[in-house]
Amino acid sequence: MFDNLSDKLDKAFHILKGHGKITEVNVADTLKEVRRALLDADVNFKIAKDFTTRVKEKAIGQDVLTTLQPGQLLVKLVKDELTELMGGDVAGINLQGTPSVILMSGLQGSGKTTFSGKLANYLQTKKNKKPLLVACDIYRPAAINQLHVVGDSIGVEVYSEPENKNPVEIAQNAIKHAKANGFNIVIVDTAGRLAVDKEMMDEIARVHKAIQPQETLFVVDSMTGQDAVNTAKAFNDILNFDGVILTKLDGDTRGGAALSIKSVVNKPIKFVGTGEKMEAIDVFYPDRMAERILGMGDVISLVERAQEQFDEEEARKLQKKIAKNEFGFDDFLTQIQQVKKMGNMKDLVGMIPGASKAMKDVEIEDDAFKHIEAIIHSMTPIERKKPALIDVKRKARIAKGSGTKIEQVNQLMKQFDQMSKMMKMMQGPGGKNLMKMMGG
Ligand code: GDP
Repeated sequence: MFDNLSDKLDKAFHILKGHGKITEVNVADTLKEVRRALLDADVNFKIAKDFTTRVKEKAIGQDVLTTLQPGQLLVKLVKDELTELMGGDVAGINLQGTPSVILMSGLQGSGKTTFSGKLANYLQTKKNKKPLLVACDIYRPAAINQLHVVGDSIGVEVYSEPENKNPVEIAQNAIKHAKANGFNIVIVDTAGRLAVDKEMMDEIARVHKAIQPQETLFVVDSMTGQDAVNTAKAFNDILNFDGVILTKLDGDTRGGAALSIKSVVNKPIKFVGTGEKMEAIDVFYPDRMAERILGMGDVISLVERAQEQFDEEEARKLQKKIAKNEFGFDDFLTQIQQVKKMGNMKDLVGMIPGASKAMKDVEIEDDAFKHIEAIIHSMTPIERKKPALIDVKRKARIAKGSGTKIEQVNQLMKQFDQMSKMMKMMQGPGGKNLMKMMGG
């Protein structure tokens, strides 16, 4: 996420390092590099210029040069300004109304349907709501099917009228259906086109007027850079929408859309999409994003994600197994699954302060556990329960079955062994001694 921008900003601040005394010239050079970094990230020229002007004014106002650590203060000023640029405070969505109606707008391919599903899933699992998804794309039968597939995967009902060619009617009927059947959220997915055209705009304006949604959200692909900003402007002129959803932030987007949209349409970014899976949705926190862009990590989000995945019941079961010496490869697999639910590895590494810089040149696979899972899946149930059974012959079979090398199987066995030993040490009576030795 925003790797290039982070990299360039880091280089900009490097100008200040290694200078015994920081001068106005160094600061000006740094800010010039900051501006260049923003332009390279596809931020509009005027926004980038205003950005550095404001940082410079603040730097002068706070007498940066006379402070003890001018470099750090300048980084802080840039961080504050980045936060402000992306919207300042976090913006929630309005869920008042029975039902609360949310209208999705945006171009075809922006990720509207996927996001509609993600939002329904989020509201259902995290906010205890009962959402109804509505398919209002009357042009592409495939789009209706796609929403049904999404709805099925998350256990959310999808309302559609495949024969009806009037999206206003479909949306209105859906709201009636929701009221009659106890749904408290209605998410209306609309038709998109490849580019802004009048017919599409008229249609969504009519739907908008007829159903008076509590929230109108504009979905945009962050990979489209400056175009994203122009499309946002066109939709905002017609709909005066309430918030922006930035999708595909997991790709190698340059970040320009995230950094420019707020200043152009003056509407907050409310959520971001960070993958194709239904769980890949994040509330957008401008300050946390600014910290990530500057390589400061995002520990708060990391801890939140870990907490979300933490299952007390499972943890207790696991403890018992370890105590009874029954920790096997199936449990190991469960642990991996838990970590995976927290997000993809690259994303997680980006949340650890300094880690994305340190691991810049390390190729992190999207699915870093692929081989481990394949190896475990090639073991028989009894082997998973009693790893001690796995001899050389079995290892060869497992390697063949999982398409890995015997060294990889050996390595996993060793890791597993070390992990089991460590867990036992922490758990058993010895663990208590260990704690005592450590002064606990
Ligand atoms: P729509 O035409 O606006 O409804 O767009 P879709 O929801 O069909 O999404 C278009 C494509 O983008 C699909 O292949 C999605 O899987 C993909 N997509 C949507 N959101 C994300 C995201 O946050 N990250 C990634 N990597 N892909 C996404």
